[in-house]
Amino acid sequence: MFRQAKRRTAGRKNFEEASTDLFQGQSTTYSSRLSFYDTPPLDEITLEQFETWAIDRLKILIEIESCVARSKSIRETEQIVKPLLLKFLPLNSNTVLAERKKDHYSHYILRLVFCRTEELRKKFIKNESILFRIRYMHLQPREQREFIATHADKLPWEYITNEEKLEFFDELFQSTSTTIRAQLLIDSAQDTLSKEQLVQHIKTVEQFIKLPFERVPQLVASRSVYLRQGMAYIPSSLQLNLLVIEFQDILSSQLNKTFQSLPRLEEDDRLLPLLNNLSQNFSNVEYNSQAYGDPTMASDINSMSITTPEITKHYPMCAKHLQTNMIAQSHLKYAGRQQLGLFLKGIGLSVDEALKFWANQFTKGSGMTLEKFNKEYKYNIRHNYGLEGARINYKPHDCATILSKPKPGKGEYHGCPYRDLSLDSLVHNLHELGVTDQSDINGVIDDVGRNDYTVACTRVFELTHKAELSKTKNGGEGMHINHPNLYFDRSRQLEKKLEA
Ligand code: SF4
Repeated sequence: MFRQAKRRTAGRKNFEEASTDLFQGQSTTYSSRLSFYDTPPLDEITLEQFETWAIDRLKILIEIESCVARSKSIRETEQIVKPLLLKFLPLNSNTVLAERKKDHYSHYILRLVFCRTEELRKKFIKNESILFRIRYMHLQPREQREFIATHADKLPWEYITNEEKLEFFDELFQSTSTTIRAQLLIDSAQDTLSKEQLVQHIKTVEQFIKLPFERVPQLVASRSVYLRQGMAYIPSSLQLNLLVIEFQDILSSQLNKTFQSLPRLEEDDRLLPLLNNLSQNFSNVEYNSQAYGDPTMASDINSMSITTPEITKHYPMCAKHLQTNMIAQSHLKYAGRQQLGLFLKGIGLSVDEALKFWANQFTKGSGMTLEKFNKEYKYNIRHNYGLEGARINYKPHDCATILSKPKPGKGEYHGCPYRDLSLDSLVHNLHELGVTDQSDINGVIDDVGRNDYTVACTRVFELTHKAELSKTKNGGEGMHINHPNLYFDRSRQLEKKLEA
């Protein structure tokens, strides 16, 4: 996609020039695995790294976006995102330079992608802030202190000593115990906490900081902190909020600066197509069956098995809707054949089995002869498998592609049912999938009302796989659905894990 070699072209800003004006700053060191990303990257990376690092980070942000849309708590989001972070953007406590570099650069690359409109900037800040919050929660207390210390210019925080905490314990308890109790209950997912437990926690675990009270006017106004000699004493649970506000302020102002620098960068025709592609659709991350799927599970996929409940129970609503109507009518128009045919190819249906399947269905009741089928449809099926014409090995459509195509007309069944079905039909289909609880259905309808179709689909996946998800440890289960084949593979993997 990109030329790997750097080149110099008169009048064009190239990589070397960019490093001298767009990315002015000190040479980067990574003293902490958490970052405010306030120092731009300076080293050169290849275009391949540029692309893959951006996509890997985007996968994390998309998952966070999906969690927010489904009103997941920060703890639930953390559980869902954790396996993805380990896979795509790990940050181990023992210094691994390559990991920190990838984290740093991928953040800056996505700034270029998401600085372009107010809406994208807001989305980026929101999701990056949640990522920052999750990562801070994972730091050791020592690392948290070190992080604060290295940003003393922005964070004039002073940790109080244990002696000082005990000296003013009654005052600190009175002013902050309600906040601390609420946070502990959320963290431990418990309903109650005795006063003794709370006292013990504050005495032994809670780390207070003090800083000039004018830095936290809202906390002072809400009487959430202890004030003494012009200093506000702030418990750990509130410190993270202050950090996140600081993070958001820095990111917001730097995104605006990045936006102003874009015209110079856009003279580089190697980066522009990639940046445009990434920003076009926030959910446009390509599903890769090698990354998520399990090819060994394709062995039982054939022309007969794909109509059995054992296999169709793993279909997302779009595939089920297409196949059900195709079987009922012994026919499917072109757009539907493409969408379903490539989906079936993606789940492992071979070309021979695909020809059998389509021929059986089209000739079984409508009076179509096998000769007519072979004449009018065989070529197209072989074409999808790269065996005819330009011999392109076509990939199954992802949700973004499906949603970008024209909506189905009368007698057509392609598209995304969450977008294309009437409310009554959608509810009927949800019932068929086993989603019958009214509040669950309302949640899906709310997603659809906000045009968050993939979020609705992810919600339905979680509702219909509740039992399996509760019995398995996280292993990609929380992944946002952005591809019908991802839905299918995740569903089968969960079943397989439980059987193992
Ligand atoms: Fe299919 Fe994607 Fe729509 Fe789900 S969101 S029904 S996978 S197109």
